[in-house]
Amino acid sequence: MIWPMLRPFKTLLVILGVGGSACAGAQSASQANVRTASPPSLVVLITVDQFRWDYLDRFGPQLQGGLAMLARGGAWFTNAHHDHAITETAPGHATLLSGRFPRSTGIMANSIGVIDDAAPLLGVAGPGGASPHRFQGTTLVDWLHARDSRSRTLSVSMKDRGAILPVGRSRSEVYWYYPDGRFTTSRYYRDSLPTWVSQFNARRLPQSYAGKAWTLLRADSAYKEADSVPIEMGGANFTFPHRIPEDSTQAANVIRATPWMDEVTLALALDGVRALGLGESTRTDVLAVSLSATDLIGHGYGPDSREMHDNILRLDRNLGVFFDSLFKLRGASHIAIAVTGDHAVGTIPELVPASVKPTPVRVDPLALDAILRRVVAAARMDSSLIEMDRQIVLADRSALKNRLPGLDSVLAAFALQAKALPGVARADRFQDLLRGDTINDAIARRWVHQFPAQSNVQLVVTLTPFSIFSGIVATHGSPYDYDSHVPLIFFGPWFASGRYPEFVRTVDLAPTLAAVVGVKPAERIDGVVLRHALK
Ligand SMILES: [Zn+2]
Repeated sequence: MIWPMLRPFKTLLVILGVGGSACAGAQSASQANVRTASPPSLVVLITVDQFRWDYLDRFGPQLQGGLAMLARGGAWFTNAHHDHAITETAPGHATLLSGRFPRSTGIMANSIGVIDDAAPLLGVAGPGGASPHRFQGTTLVDWLHARDSRSRTLSVSMKDRGAILPVGRSRSEVYWYYPDGRFTTSRYYRDSLPTWVSQFNARRLPQSYAGKAWTLLRADSAYKEADSVPIEMGGANFTFPHRIPEDSTQAANVIRATPWMDEVTLALALDGVRALGLGESTRTDVLAVSLSATDLIGHGYGPDSREMHDNILRLDRNLGVFFDSLFKLRGASHIAIAVTGDHAVGTIPELVPASVKPTPVRVDPLALDAILRRVVAAARMDSSLIEMDRQIVLADRSALKNRLPGLDSVLAAFALQAKALPGVARADRFQDLLRGDTINDAIARRWVHQFPAQSNVQLVVTLTPFSIFSGIVATHGSPYDYDSHVPLIFFGPWFASGRYPEFVRTVDLAPTLAAVVGVKPAERIDGVVLRHALK
């Protein structure tokens, strides 16, 4: 499993009081620099899942395809961050076209992402539905739709959250991958698959990789990373070639952790552009594509592996073919492209240089949970009113109104004991962070951007740099820059190409695109227009 769920997600749902808007926007909609001349007919958002800021430079000399085109001809923000604490897929994707931090999108963690049993998947029996029902507010898709109700949007990904969250609550064309080899959607969006998706599924492209092997794209000498690093994949199948099972159903599952998954996702996106006529009219349409292979490969092999190197070379090639096809279909001069990541990733803890102190460790989240249970029992508090979700302590203060001094002493005792645990850097009362220095203390600021001020979050635990919760080879999710720092590149005739080194946030992506297409955000947002990237 890529992302082990350590606590039932309902805990966070029930206890987290997230109603109402706590959005304190940095910029009002009326301030947006709205351009009126020749807006693009198609806006393309490519999100590479787990896209580290340094891959483009690290592999730059070997890039010749889509990433090379973006790096050499785009407006490239080299210091762009997800300025929130829980750098996971769901919160990250939700910021991109909304221009708002997780505290106001309502998508604060993967565990409170898109899971919705009331919205079953088409053609899939049993639980496991998905919808954006927890997403609050609007996105660029809604802003465009308000101007022209004919505006159309297609969003595709291997992951449900990667497809659903960029386009918010809109009932757009939204499709994601089911690991038996089909793309599907949920009843939130429609009751049956459109013909073009059914025809794509009937081609059985994912199954066609059965029996093949993922080998290196270039000669061995082009890769300076060692291939034999036994900590990768937990010690199994960590060297090239990576063979795909002969069984076609197993193959459709296994290709998710290979560059072929992105090839399949991009093929579906192109079919959708043709079938839906995206970008062929004077209105502005949206295509959102979230490419998940990099995330699965990064979790399994780590960001410094030979596999990641080869994956980025193949991503570059796949994106090159995709952009070429798109430009042939609709004309490059009509397409505005934005490319970023939903989060980055940290080095495998055991491979972090010895100079990093304290030495990173793997922290068992059950150890934190045990501390909380101990201090709650010692205080004779009702344990059902105080919960832990991985690194967050939650309590409903209104239900505890006669016991608030007790709650405060429980939290103080927990913080003291948690900080004594190896791998724990900080245990902060959330209310203290809200009153704290969010300019000089980036970690405090990122936690403040994560949850509404009135939520039931009482205390947040931050691990030491490069320490991770156990259960996975390499991962992300911390407020540190190595997890938050992603590429942010705009491409198209509206943007002034070049490298921009200033600190920007992924919430700035939506207002910048809104300015280019000439619409105003429908609500107060956190992001600002990156004006100097505009021509
Ligand atoms: Zn991930």
